[in-house]
Amino acid sequence: LLFDPRPKEDPRDLFDREEELKALRSGINYPVTLLLGLRRSGKSSIVKVLMRQEDALWVYLDMRKFEGRAYITYRDLVQELEGAINSWPERLRQAFRGLRGVRLAGVEVRLSWGPGDRAEISDVLERLSEVAEEEGRRPVVVFDESQELRRLKGYDLLYPIAYAYDNLRVRFIFTGSEVGMVYRFLRLNDPGSPLYGRAVTEINVGPFSRGLSLEFLRRGFEEVGMKVPEAEVEEAYDSLGGIPGWLTYYGFYYMQLRDHREALNKTISTGVELVRQEFRGFLVGREAARERYYTIMEACREGCTWSDVKRALEAREGARVDDKQVTLLIRNLVDASFLTREGDLYRPADVLIRRAFQR
Ligand code: ADP
Ligand code: MG
Repeated sequence: LLFDPRPKEDPRDLFDREEELKALRSGINYPVTLLLGLRRSGKSSIVKVLMRQEDALWVYLDMRKFEGRAYITYRDLVQELEGAINSWPERLRQAFRGLRGVRLAGVEVRLSWGPGDRAEISDVLERLSEVAEEEGRRPVVVFDESQELRRLKGYDLLYPIAYAYDNLRVRFIFTGSEVGMVYRFLRLNDPGSPLYGRAVTEINVGPFSRGLSLEFLRRGFEEVGMKVPEAEVEEAYDSLGGIPGWLTYYGFYYMQLRDHREALNKTISTGVELVRQEFRGFLVGREAARERYYTIMEACREGCTWSDVKRALEAREGARVDDKQVTLLIRNLVDASFLTREGDLYRPADVLIRRAFQR
């Protein structure tokens, strides 16, 4: 069903996105693919559909569950990896027997994170590569919402990834809603980074165009046998924009409430609440600048320049704000995809982000 609010897994439930799927399918012929796009643009859906279609040895790691946490530990990472391995058939899990820091408890694989006998990610990747080779399948590791990995404390995941890049057949997909933050984590352009200079494939998942959005809504309603006036569908797009997630929520609420206005209002209020929650997550570890970030988001609701931002901050504080600070604050908001830049103008990255900062 198109209006199912969970990420899609069945190819029949994925609307459009043939191009992106095709790009991702060829992306996994190479070591690293980035799948980037705003929250709710459909990245997880695209990956999960490909997981159904491609008979690779998939390791899907959901980093989203760590969103809003001050930091992630090696233990968190290893447990996530353990969960992914344990979703495989037992026969494949057996292959991890005998690896340092790895136990088989019955048929469950257990990875140790403790000092002394901790399981090394590079060993696990190497074994994964071997198992896949024996099976004649490609090993693909997905870090969904990978920007969260930059909060991994006490461990540099880039080393095992660089090792795998150079020596193993493992392919990686890094998805990210916060495009700039994914780049900060991978440090591809930083000569001091283990991944410096490695080539990556980048795929951008954009919002649907107006035409596609309307088509998506029509098709979704048709699928559940509902006749919905064209004017309502158009108003939904005009208020929500082309992000598939918001359109899906609207359709989902419409099915429940059987009323356009109520469905639209509910989508907006739920969406705004989600955005605010995500923004609070962004502020974790940035508490000192909390008021400044809110001031910028409010000042930029209809678009703003760097100078507008500086003026708004100084007006609010009644004191000079350093130019470097202004630049840094804006950059963080852009890297976290709350603002986007078009020429000299910064704007909220989508309609509901704009609404979330209305006083
Ligand atoms: P992301 O991982 O980018 O945040 P998701 O894949 O979770 O996005 O999608 C957000 C919501 O939108 C989900 O409810 C999903 O079912 C829906 N959705 C996204 N893209 C599509 C699509 N191409 N076809 C149908 N539904 C989609
Ligand atoms: Mg997702």
